[in-house]
Amino acid sequence: MTQTSLGESVVQKELHAQAQNNGVAANITQTQPLWLLAEVTYRCPLHCAFCYNPTDYDKHTQNELTTEQWIQALRDARKMGAIQLGISGGEPLLRDDIEDIVIEARKLGYYSNLITSGVGLTEKRIQAFKEGGLDHIQLSMHDITEEINNFITNTKTFELKKKVAAMIKNHGYPMVLNVVIHRYNIGHIKEILEMAEALGADYVELANTQYYGWSLVNRSQLMPLKEQIDEAERITNEFREKVGNKMKIFFVVPDYFGDRPKKCMNGWGEVFMIVTANGDVLPCHSARVLPNMAFPNVREKGLEYAWKESPAFNKYRGTAWMKGPCVTCPEKMNDLGGCRCQAFLLTGDAEAADPVCSLSPHHHLIEKAIEDSKNPVIANQPIIFRTDKNSKKYVAGDKERIAEFHALP
Ligand code: SF4
Ligand code: SF4
Repeated sequence: MTQTSLGESVVQKELHAQAQNNGVAANITQTQPLWLLAEVTYRCPLHCAFCYNPTDYDKHTQNELTTEQWIQALRDARKMGAIQLGISGGEPLLRDDIEDIVIEARKLGYYSNLITSGVGLTEKRIQAFKEGGLDHIQLSMHDITEEINNFITNTKTFELKKKVAAMIKNHGYPMVLNVVIHRYNIGHIKEILEMAEALGADYVELANTQYYGWSLVNRSQLMPLKEQIDEAERITNEFREKVGNKMKIFFVVPDYFGDRPKKCMNGWGEVFMIVTANGDVLPCHSARVLPNMAFPNVREKGLEYAWKESPAFNKYRGTAWMKGPCVTCPEKMNDLGGCRCQAFLLTGDAEAADPVCSLSPHHHLIEKAIEDSKNPVIANQPIIFRTDKNSKKYVAGDKERIAEFHALP
């Protein structure tokens, strides 16, 4: 999964607005799981250094839900009010039943979005998606240079992505490009936007890397300087003015360089529900890193139980779980204390304030991470790519760098 499909991304907000305009989202309330993200597989031919999938994904690759189980999940979520379906992975196109899932999504009235690296998208399949009623295809791009594209994904996919972009456009889809921004491509923002314009992109999301999963493992290697982020934002704003409404450009500011956290997933268990490849139901992509949590699985109990009754979905809903400084903070309803996973991964305490908050007693951890990224001894360590071999090492408890972020007290 690229960083595009995180929570309520800016492009997703845009798609949601479109879904509402199209009449899909009648009578919604904030108590429903409006967004269903189907992470249909953890298999992927790419090995992105910033991949958001869990480092231990190898544990979950053997037991994928069947087509029938996915269709049941779609039906159940729709009954509960879900209107927006993201089909993600891994690379979803490694499954040969995405066409069936798309057809069912259309029948049920979802607004559907395929989130893909492009590998596996053929003329035949895109034609079937069009006929089946898929609304959007969101394609990840990485750079204007073959060298960086191939390096950061650890594959030779540069030419293929350009061909897929053209194919998406030729089939009358709006072109939605996602580009994860990091140290290796942040100097190419203008050229990336020019490439997007030349490809006829309708939407471009410049998603600065957030640090979870594999990107946390590679944090010091990927993190750009604050000055580079400011410059990238300035160039983006200039470009936006130049192209106007022809191409909508979103620049997602990275958490580490703000002083308040985001309202993660728009609130735990508020509007977002993820079903993973093996059927676990999660309120956020990373939730399985949290300690002492048992997540429901669609094979055992349905989505309604997961959403309404499961201890996991109720644990961090609202503000009752909070402690200082969040519990007495006048801003607590704005951000709900930030991200539980980020709090746990960095502090070892899932109930701590998200350390990106400057009021957090752990905020020095963010400052240290920024300093580490400038330290050549740390920042020049080799990248650990998202591969089955590396994931197996993590599952086996390997004590290399891959494990250090998960071994906090
Ligand atoms: S390796 Fe890359 S393409 Fe594959 S799931 Fe991860 S981010 Fe997406
Ligand atoms: S202290 Fe907690 S509630 Fe207040 S701004 Fe920081 S993270 Fe948000």
